[in-house]
Amino acid sequence: MLGDRNLRGMIEKAFDRLYDDLSIKIDKTNNDRIHALEASLCTRLAYYERRDSIAPDNNSKISILLGNGLRHALSNIKGEYRVDNLTLEVNADMIIADEFVVRFEVVSQLPEIPHPRHLLYLNACLFAFNKNDGFLIYMDAEGKTAEFSVTKNNRMFEETIRRARVLSALLKENKVPIVEPSDLCLRCKYYERCFAREKIKSSSGDILADIFGKLSGK
Ligand code: SF4
Repeated sequence: MLGDRNLRGMIEKAFDRLYDDLSIKIDKTNNDRIHALEASLCTRLAYYERRDSIAPDNNSKISILLGNGLRHALSNIKGEYRVDNLTLEVNADMIIADEFVVRFEVVSQLPEIPHPRHLLYLNACLFAFNKNDGFLIYMDAEGKTAEFSVTKNNRMFEETIRRARVLSALLKENKVPIVEPSDLCLRCKYYERCFAREKIKSSSGDILADIFGKLSGK
């Protein structure tokens, strides 16, 4: 407390405002408009975010803020691609020389190969902006980067559209999509809704000794 003011509370409120301002805006009421981020991540996660969301914890907020703050400082260009009654929305970070679409990803560790969900997302941007080539640039906290070039790919885009259609249909039917196990689950705020988790109780305090003891009949 500083005087009669709650300094920590004030800082948290300022962070919350910034977080709301910088978040990518998704119209959660329109089931015919799906953002490519929703289709390229886990569709179950996207469903929960629209229907029954849990607020992110402070650590997640700060890491999302870093990525979104960078996008906000860049062009953050909106685009969309329509297929029948479905509209796929995208936000690209930059378009260079009116030719190359650029997407940045802030990560704790630079990857050796690009993550499939980031490829699906950048590829969707290429279709929405009708460009052939893009760059996926990973950046870590020290400012080190790893760059990958990406060429427009029909099959990857068909997969994104298929996933967007599934999400759109399930939202209309109020049905939760199936679990999509991936590395995302480990730090997902919906983990407990997807996976039963029970800590094993050991009588001796050493679970391996208990198991091998039972196997050897001791
Ligand atoms: S825990 Fe995994 S499957 Fe469940 S919503 Fe999160 S990312 Fe999707």
